[in-house]
Parts: sequence; structure tokens; C-alpha cells
Amino acid sequence: MEKLQVINPATGETIGEIPATPLEETDEIMRRARKAFTNWQTQPLATRLHVLRRLRHYLIDHLDEAIALIAEDTGKPKVEAITADILTVVDMIRYLEKNATKSLRTRKVKTPLTLIGKKSYVTYQPRGVVLVISPWNYPFQLAMIPVLNALAAGNSVILKPSEVTPRVGEWMAHLFRACRFPDDVVQVAHGGGALGAELVAAGPDYIFFTGSVATGKRIQQEAAKRLIPTTLELGGKDPMIVFRDAPIERAVQGAIWGAFTHSGQVCMSVERLYVERPLYVDFLHALKAELDRLRQADDADSDLGAMTSPSQRHIVHTHIRDAISKGATVAWGSEPEQWPERRGLQLPPTVLTDVTEEMDIAHEETFGPVLSVLPFDDEAEAIQLANDSSFGLNASVWSRDLSKAKRVAAALVSGNVVINDVIVSVANPYLPFGGSKESGIGRYHADVGLKAFCHEKSLLVDPGKKKTEVNWFPYRGKLPLFRTLVASLYGKKRSPLRFVSSYLQLLKRANKR
Ligand code: NAD
Repeated sequence: MEKLQVINPATGETIGEIPATPLEETDEIMRRARKAFTNWQTQPLATRLHVLRRLRHYLIDHLDEAIALIAEDTGKPKVEAITADILTVVDMIRYLEKNATKSLRTRKVKTPLTLIGKKSYVTYQPRGVVLVISPWNYPFQLAMIPVLNALAAGNSVILKPSEVTPRVGEWMAHLFRACRFPDDVVQVAHGGGALGAELVAAGPDYIFFTGSVATGKRIQQEAAKRLIPTTLELGGKDPMIVFRDAPIERAVQGAIWGAFTHSGQVCMSVERLYVERPLYVDFLHALKAELDRLRQADDADSDLGAMTSPSQRHIVHTHIRDAISKGATVAWGSEPEQWPERRGLQLPPTVLTDVTEEMDIAHEETFGPVLSVLPFDDEAEAIQLANDSSFGLNASVWSRDLSKAKRVAAALVSGNVVINDVIVSVANPYLPFGGSKESGIGRYHADVGLKAFCHEKSLLVDPGKKKTEVNWFPYRGKLPLFRTLVASLYGKKRSPLRFVSSYLQLLKRANKR
């Protein structure tokens, strides 16, 4: 049986193995998911939310276990495990407990005069079996949030967590058992890309994918063959724009946290920092002074942890090397060859200046502890530079002039924008989250994110008392009456009287057969 290697990012050593799900089991997993769906979808929403609440309480009762496990599997500091992985999940459960009933309630909507006598409703029906494929950087949050929304909406779920963080994957399977989720309502399949591809081919009713652009495109191509709808949450190369009237001290701290939290392995980390030219030199100076204070160790007070996977560490190294060979300056840190000896997968932060278009780091996602800092001359140039990317996930604008900041935010092509803060919009479950351009398709979180896991079904009800309708056959003699009706309702000279008269005549004709 194939095994997934558990790597300790603090040392880079393999410390265990987790059995992988055999590829030939995918049809059986799908069969069980379909069976579980038939019952789960009929449970009252309150029952489904009760199961989610049980999970919330379990997580809080086992907080230290969860923090330690996530930190060990990813190499991130424990503070980041609790704030970014766990807090976001319990907050989302609370959001669902408070809001799911309202979101999924059947809504009565208006019915136009032309459909007089009928009533119209929008209803929400679960899609069926949802496949969630998740990445390794926030292995708990990015798996649990789509899974829990899909379950609340009444779907059954197959979760394939990342093979890079298999212990968190295994722990999530344990959680669902410990919290007595009904059998097979959520199944966890452990494996890599080949298993993900098999599960896509098994024909789920919806695919929710978080990961790289390359894999997202592959999944979208496979899904298109069967017209399986998808949400794709993909990469980013997020810009931060600092105007000279920004709250400087806060912007410096924000830039450092935004670029180096979780060693930059964040789809929304700040990778491009644009500073208005009169502030540029002083800002860079302040940035470097602040970087001197960061601690990189592997204890509970450490600010910086380790990279999670050796292959990502390699990409970061390659981007820095490429940039330096093409003329970039290392403004803070050192060239890779002079990096101090570190344990395991730790990487020191690097700040680069003089970054130009021909360098990979200017446009490709680096996903590591590297920040490029560039000057700009005016508002128009800042917008043009920020938008000059194939990505559009998150961005931040820093200025005390909030009308200017909002004007710039409006001009950015980005799924999310934060003013005078970074990344944090994702932590508000009331805000939709997702990317534009190559950063993805679709939104999750908030009302739209729960409804994404539903068929939005329109229901129109006629009491069935009339023998016929004005627009049904026969058409004889109806054209001029319809012309009067349409013009009287929508023309410059609107006339309720002419509408009623033409409608009554149409009705008379319809009934005279
Ligand atoms: P990845 O694309 O390598 O893998 C993501 C998942 O897809 C894993 O579970 C993997 O096993 C699976 N997979 C790989 N090939 C597959 C295939 N052919 N069919 C089905 N599944 C397949 O991404 P990663 O390295 O795990 O994550 C890092 C990437 O994720 C970065 O690009 C980052 O920006 C992005 N990301 C995006 C968001 C977001 O919300 N937009 C959040 C976090 C990470």
C-alpha cells in the first residue's frame, strides 16, 4: 500500500507515514457518498447545524492538540496555527449557526404585472456530492471552511487534503468521527494529485478546489468534460500600495507581517510593495530596522517558522537567484549562498529592490519569505503597476485620505482589497472571498459562499384556476393587443388603463375558443 511521508519542517526529516487511499477505491467512496447524501439532505437544517456546533465545541476543548498538530505539520508558529487555521474555522461555524437558516430559507420574490395571479419563490437545494481538494499552507482552514459550508447546505462531501500535510488530513478524519458526523456524510481520502484526479473523474456534482493555477486549470478541463461546476481558489501576487500620506509606522509593520507571516506561504501574502517615491528611501530604512527585530526559531514565541515543503523552498531559492542574476539588489538579508545555516526548512526573509519585468519574481507567485519593494510616482502609476499582473486575489491600499484609498481600491482588478490593513478581509465570514483573473473562479464565505453549494431553484406557482393563459395558443388577433400591452407598460407614455383594457381583451380572446 502506498504511504504518505510525514516531514517535520523544523528538521526536514521524514518522521512517519500515513497510509494512502488506494486509487481503485474512488468508485466505492463515491457510491458511499451518494448513499449518505440521500439521508443527509433530508435532515432539517437545524440538525445539520447541531452537528457543526458539536465540532466547534470539540475544537475548543482540544485547542492545544489542534494547535500543536497544525504547527508541527506545517512548520508555522503556533500563534499562526490558532489565529489563521483554527479561529477562522470556529468563527465560520458560528457564522453558519447564525446565518444559514436565513440564507437557505425559501424567498418570495416579486412577480410582474404581466404574470398576474401567480406567485414566485427562490429555493435552495443541495447539489449532491461535493469534492473538496485542499492545499498545505492552511491545511485546516482551507479544507474545513468549504467542507462545513457544503455540509450545512445538505451535501455529502469527499475531502482530499494535501499530501504535503497528511497529519492534519488524518486528524480531520478523526474529528468527523469524534464529533459523530453520520457515516460517510464526509469522507477523507488521503493521497496526492493522482488520487485527486481519480476523484474528479469519479464524477462529483461539484468541485471546490484550492491550490495552484496549474492544477486549477487541469481540474477545470476535466470538469468541463462532464460540465461539473467548480469553485477555483488559486494563487496570487498581491500588491501593497503605500502613499506618502499613509500611517507610516503601521504600514511598515503591516508590510512585514503581510509579506512574512507563515514565511510568505500565503496566497494573499504581500509580494509586491509599491511605495510613493518621496517616502521610498525612508520607508525602506524603517522596513529594514523592523526586520532586524523578527525572531526566527522553533519555539512558541518565534515570529517566523519554516517552509512547509522542500519543493516550495526550492522555488523561492530559484526566484531569488534569478532576480539577483538579472540585477536585483538584496536590500535586506543575504544572497542564498550566504544564508546562515538553519535547521530544517527555515528560510531567512529577503527584501529585494531594483526588481524589473524580466525577472521571474516580478510576475510569478513566489510563495515564500521574499518581498520586492518598488517606487511609484503618482496614483495612476500605482494602479497601473498593481493591475499589471495575471493574478488578482487580494491587494492593500495605505493612505490617511480614505476617499483616495477607496478610489484606488475601486480601480484595482482584484477579488479583495483591504485599506490600511493586509490579508485580513478573509477573516470576516460576512465578506465573500475569491479571486479575479488567474486567481480563480467563484466566491466562498458569506451568503454567496453557502449558496454556491446549492442549486438555486426558481419556483413559480399558479393557483390553476384559469382555463388558459393569454400567451397560449391560439394567437389569432392577439398581436395588436400585445403591442398595446407592451407599449402601455414600458413606453414613454405609460398607461395602466390601456394595459388593463388590452389585457382583458386578450383574456377574452383566450377564453373564446
Ligand atoms: P497544488 O495545486 O500543488 O495542490 C493542491 C491540491 O491539489 C493538493 O491536494 C494536490 O494533491 C491536489 N492535486 C494536484 N494535482 C491534481 C490533479 N491533477 N487533480 C486533482 N487534484 C490534484 O497547490 P499547493 O502547492 O498545495 O498549494 C499552493 C497553491 O495554492 C499556491 O498557488 C497558493 O497561492 C494556492 N492557494 C490559494 C488559496 C486561495 O484561497 N485562493 C489559498 C491557499 C493557497
